[in-house]
Amino acid sequence: MSAAAALLAALALGQFAPYVRSRVKPGDDSTQCLYWTVPQVTWSQATQGNPGTAGDTEFEAVRVSFKSWEDIFARCGNLSLREGPVINERRVGYRRNEQNNNVVLFRTLNCSTVVAEKDACWKAETCASQYDCWDDDDSTLAITLTTYDKRSGIILDSDISFNAGQYTFTTVIGAKCEPPAPTNCVPADVQNTATHEIGHFIGLDHTRANGSTMNPSASPGEVSKRTIDTGSSSFVCDVYPKGRASQACLHPTVEDTLGAKDGGCASTGATSMGAALLAWAVWGLRRRERGGRS
Ligand SMILES: [Zn+2]
Repeated sequence: MSAAAALLAALALGQFAPYVRSRVKPGDDSTQCLYWTVPQVTWSQATQGNPGTAGDTEFEAVRVSFKSWEDIFARCGNLSLREGPVINERRVGYRRNEQNNNVVLFRTLNCSTVVAEKDACWKAETCASQYDCWDDDDSTLAITLTTYDKRSGIILDSDISFNAGQYTFTTVIGAKCEPPAPTNCVPADVQNTATHEIGHFIGLDHTRANGSTMNPSASPGEVSKRTIDTGSSSFVCDVYPKGRASQACLHPTVEDTLGAKDGGCASTGATSMGAALLAWAVWGLRRRERGGRS
């Protein structure tokens, strides 16, 4: 194999790595990886839950999803994910000098139907928080919005939103919904979706590795991502090793100068802090993909 062919093969294989870390610039290995450096991250569910899910079962499904990751952290990690109180919060993103919650919420309205075209929020990309609506691609199931320090990759805030206007989220295991829209079936599973999004929440990007929780697409009724695969588990043990500092990808001494969210932000300097927002969009279910599979 020529050197060029070997390089291409390596690049292609990268997509199938057991896990892929999120980067300051997605896919650019010359930029820092995203990761938490605090010993404990608190997350909260929004009080509204999802009106379309039976009872309050969506709350428990999200809890169980976090628990799956927490169990791995307890075994080999240095970070604890702790559930905070349910809060009346409909905003995502990071606001300076405010208390920032890492929130999990369901959006039931689409911004394109509730926000005027001329509204300034479109350009500012604040419609979702301002009008409590889904402003991403219709076909995206859920999105994790992570705010991090651009220089160090240290995560400051992460919020998970479900596209509950477009998708019906359920918590049961049952027959997969196939057209024409039968009843008593599973269209989109809360736990399957949440387990994947929490992977983004802690700094994982997509991989096409077979059977990975971080696979970018999902088929209707899928529940296999509820179980965290060994590749994604090894990310926790590698990047958040028990008894040691969380691992950066570049400049391994960064932990000496940058610390936790509260103390560390100041040391990064006002200019480099520029709260970069990154939407971890699309874990698939694009309609054309669904069509292609059938
Ligand atoms: Zn994803």
